[in-house]
Amino acid sequence: MLKGKIAVVTGGSRGIGAAICRELAKNGASVALLYAGSDEKAAAVTEELISLGTAAKCYRCDVSDLNTVTAVFKTIASEFGPVDILINNAGVTADKLLMTMKEREFDKVLAVNLKGAFNTIKQVYPVFLRRRSGKIINIASVAGLSGNAGQVNYAASKAGLIALTKSVAKELASRGICCNAIAPGLIDTDMTAGLNEVSPIMGSIPLGRAGKPEEVAALAVFLASPLSDYITGEVIRIDGGLAM
Ligand code: NAP
Repeated sequence: MLKGKIAVVTGGSRGIGAAICRELAKNGASVALLYAGSDEKAAAVTEELISLGTAAKCYRCDVSDLNTVTAVFKTIASEFGPVDILINNAGVTADKLLMTMKEREFDKVLAVNLKGAFNTIKQVYPVFLRRRSGKIINIASVAGLSGNAGQVNYAASKAGLIALTKSVAKELASRGICCNAIAPGLIDTDMTAGLNEVSPIMGSIPLGRAGKPEEVAALAVFLASPLSDYITGEVIRIDGGLAM
């Protein structure tokens, strides 16, 4: 379905991002994987993608730093060619009540989760305009829709990402470029490793279980594919009904 397409996935070394990389590769896309510090995990995912028969390479790149992002995207363009699909998945948390949250904890979460998407979209924007095609998928969160106690930084970053998604969709729609967001609920990854089957949040999920990274990946690949060419500016919840 994505044969010949070139995809960039941020935060591809673990969790949802790694699952998205695998699903893209299974569908024939070449994958440039960005990560922050997990060299071995990023290399292992990359090897796995190559073993699936696709071109893949990983790049250590802090998405919150515009200069680094600009340099890495230049390298990707020279090594892969023009990007067709951008998936902004890199994200961090620093949860605590606002009363005790440090300024740096607020700034860091906003810098990675929100400014990171600005930094990467800035790289593909002129390329997508010139080619009159492209798909941008931003991984937000249900916290960005409903808010969450103990997550003012995270929820604000994801609400901002949703507004950014809709604004970019409006800027680029006339050129046939689609920009959508996915809002996962509780997905079983390192980020949620502290929560388990007896966590109170489980009782609030109508489908009664955490989601799997592969389930989010399938949705991301649908939004990256021609099957979704008439969908833009949308936020799709994948949360077992949590935020219904
Ligand atoms: P995860 O397992 O903690 O993985 C986070 C990924 O982001 C890693 O690949 C990490 O790279 C990368 N990353 C972190 N900071 C970065 C930076 N500054 N620059 C580049 N990459 C960076 O997280 P996850 O659970 O898969 O979550 C993925 C996305 O889904 C996030 O945006 C998260 O907010 C969102 N989400 C998750 C859930 C959930 O329940 N898990 C729910 C809603 C939304 P390293 O491995 O190198 O550190």
